[in-house]
Amino acid sequence: MPAKVLSGKLLSARIKDELKHEVAQLESKGITPGLAVVIVGNDPASRVYVNSKKKACEEIGIYSEEYALPEDATQMDLVNLITSLNQKKDIDGILVQLPLPKHINEEEVINTINPKKDVDAFHPVNVGKIMIGNYDFLPCTPAGVMELIKESGIEIAGKECVVVGRSNIVGKPQSMLLLHEHGTVTICHSRTKNIKEVCRKADILVAAVGKANFITADMVKPGAVVIDVGINRLEDTKKLVGDVDFDNVAEIAGAITPVPGGVGPMTIAMLMRNTVKAVQL
Ligand code: NDP
Repeated sequence: MPAKVLSGKLLSARIKDELKHEVAQLESKGITPGLAVVIVGNDPASRVYVNSKKKACEEIGIYSEEYALPEDATQMDLVNLITSLNQKKDIDGILVQLPLPKHINEEEVINTINPKKDVDAFHPVNVGKIMIGNYDFLPCTPAGVMELIKESGIEIAGKECVVVGRSNIVGKPQSMLLLHEHGTVTICHSRTKNIKEVCRKADILVAAVGKANFITADMVKPGAVVIDVGINRLEDTKKLVGDVDFDNVAEIAGAITPVPGGVGPMTIAMLMRNTVKAVQL
């Protein structure tokens, strides 16, 4: 039987609806959550993401400001901008769209954000809190994945969870969140041996690699929950696909997320949730 498709589009719409009510309640007390989005340069993918984030703010009633800096903006320009946003009273959350141009030190930029306004949860203080399990903000993409897994109805506790990818923004925090929910977690990366066999043990398989069709049907245990974080644009057709060979894996998996319409919209919904939360901080 083909897998249940876990729609991030539907689930994120539900979450955004709940947030809309929360924002309306805050509004009645004279409080409007505010998000500042900083983008540097002309990366088309970054532009698409920033526009989606701004649109989600509008839908929910969050006030948003965009700061678009030119490709040749200096480290100092960026650090000064963030320092001023840290002090701005009507701004609760600050998001710097990554990646930044090569001449910019990304780490220093992230470290400049006030951790209480760090709605992406990339600041070392927030990363540390995620590790401990006592967090102000959940990192948006991994948090979105957790919501989708919950939606699948599968209990995480005691399950074999395999995360493919160990980046600071997806793979590592994802593994931590699964661990906090009592999964038995394995992290795979480019040096992992026998990755096929490791993946095939997973009850819950999360792919965050950035390679189209990386997860094939022979890497998936029948009935597994397969979550596809990847966003890849195919060279020839320009089609947007994930890391999972969706059609073939869907024949075997118990549940699967599509791309587009899976993790992507959940990431944005979680960003909105963090921005509303930032008001309380
Ligand atoms: P990174 O490039 O930072 O990390 C990719 C990871 O995949 C690395 O840990 C790398 O291993 C691992 N990897 C690469 N090749 C292999 C291989 N052959 N076998 C096993 N592991 C491999 O990417 P991100 O984590 O930032 O993003 C991953 C994907 O998710 C991308 O497609 C990105 O666009 C997408 N994404 C989607 C989001 C969403 O909202 N849906 C949000 C963020 C990202 P190693 O560490 O050894 O190099």
